[in-house]
Amino acid sequence: MNKPKVYFMDARSESPDTSLINKTVTVFEAAGFDKMINKGDVVAIKMHCGELGSSAYIRPAYVRAIADKIKEIGGRPFACDTTTQTYGTWGSRVTELDLIETAERNGFSSATLGCPFISADGYVGTSDYRVDIPEGYLLKEAYIAQAIAAADKVIVLTHFKGHGMGVIGGALKNLGIGCQSKRGKFNVHMGRHPSYGIGDSTVFHPENFKGKKDDADWELLENCCPLGLFKVTDNDELLWEREKCINCLGCGSWMNPRGIFEPNLANFDATDIAIADGALGVIKAVGKENIGFINVAVDVSPKCDCAGFSDVPLTPHLGVFASKDPVAVDQACVDAAKHAPGMPGSLAEEMGIDAPGERKFDLGGGAIEGLSEQTTINTAVVNGLGSRDHEIVNVQPLGRDRFAFPPDPRPTKIRFAKMFEKFQPFPFDKHDGRGYNRLEKVDIDAVKGHDGPTVDPHSHQDAAYHGDGGWHPGDDDSSFKPRSSSNGDSAKTDSKTKK
Ligand code: SF4
Repeated sequence: MNKPKVYFMDARSESPDTSLINKTVTVFEAAGFDKMINKGDVVAIKMHCGELGSSAYIRPAYVRAIADKIKEIGGRPFACDTTTQTYGTWGSRVTELDLIETAERNGFSSATLGCPFISADGYVGTSDYRVDIPEGYLLKEAYIAQAIAAADKVIVLTHFKGHGMGVIGGALKNLGIGCQSKRGKFNVHMGRHPSYGIGDSTVFHPENFKGKKDDADWELLENCCPLGLFKVTDNDELLWEREKCINCLGCGSWMNPRGIFEPNLANFDATDIAIADGALGVIKAVGKENIGFINVAVDVSPKCDCAGFSDVPLTPHLGVFASKDPVAVDQACVDAAKHAPGMPGSLAEEMGIDAPGERKFDLGGGAIEGLSEQTTINTAVVNGLGSRDHEIVNVQPLGRDRFAFPPDPRPTKIRFAKMFEKFQPFPFDKHDGRGYNRLEKVDIDAVKGHDGPTVDPHSHQDAAYHGDGGWHPGDDDSSFKPRSSSNGDSAKTDSKTKK
């Protein structure tokens, strides 16, 4: 059997056609996604817009470049993400309204993307398409966000990174969590599962609750659950109706630090398995031949873009990867991270997993010990979604003329000659045609020294304009008041400098 191909370009950039954004378009073409899209196709670009506060999520310019490419082919793109469970008390993508506002804060809008950004599972997250998955390893049904299930084609554009629960946040997780509706996410996270659900498997230590008097945030313990399953009694007893828990993950950030919950490895492992089942549901809903995967493995942060913060990346940028096989594309990224050195100052260094050859995500990604960066990938293999074994195809740049400024790709003379005649931006009429008042020569070496300048500060006080209206850092004359200058020339007469 032929190995699936993973089209790859490294992270180095030294020209416009080797910019990471243009490399993303280049691997899109190399993987044949342009041939997959027909004229008139509605194409979902599934991306993660980042929780409020995170900063490593995929930059809007990547999404824009792919949207532009789809439009060039004749497709009709839209970018999308889905609503989350609650995940915490101050989740910023829980409803469509939250999601759109957060996406816009993070830079994703029609104006930046050149196509609409929508919530794929509706306002609350119940707009979905149910799929039977008898082949699933653990789940037997999945709930796919409606807009994704309805699209003709889907480009899964993933920022590859670590993830506290999923261990890796790659293409499979973008399918198995990111493309699930809210109720699909409860399913994947083991809501009310008899063995692996939080309510069924968490070790509960209510005795670690200190009481209302000694716990200033005790009311949040009651208010963190959307179903109101926690109650603090008048006797300072913490009660939990655990049998009703739907695994929204709203309470962990309050219970775990207090020692009220013990982290539950089985819940995490089962969720990592279920992610591959959810991914299977998406592939069945859309059709394998209609989906392409691009992993942008830059800013490889330890935790996911859903965390609300982004730590120092575990590794340097790894590059861009594209494939029709979601297993192969994730495995290629995991392998690249393993062979890369850890980033100095990162969690990889702190945990002693920074040497090339060390697995980076078991400890660097996973929130608790005992998780594996291979669980979701291996389950996806069992589910028939693809192959860990793959062939890396090194893709060559397409040439800089392929990446001219899209709104006006004409050469410079044609774009600007007439305009500059009419609105001359260079003051040719001044200083003998040289345009500006400048010294003919300065001591360049005097300001190149790594130990500081070798000329005195402000030795050019006779210059016409200091750029700040007259006041200079280091001026220690307390009687001096910054003056307002109407133009640069007057600065010559009354600016004060430290001698
Ligand atoms: S008890 Fe269950 S439903 Fe309630 S906040 Fe915790 S995880 Fe969510």
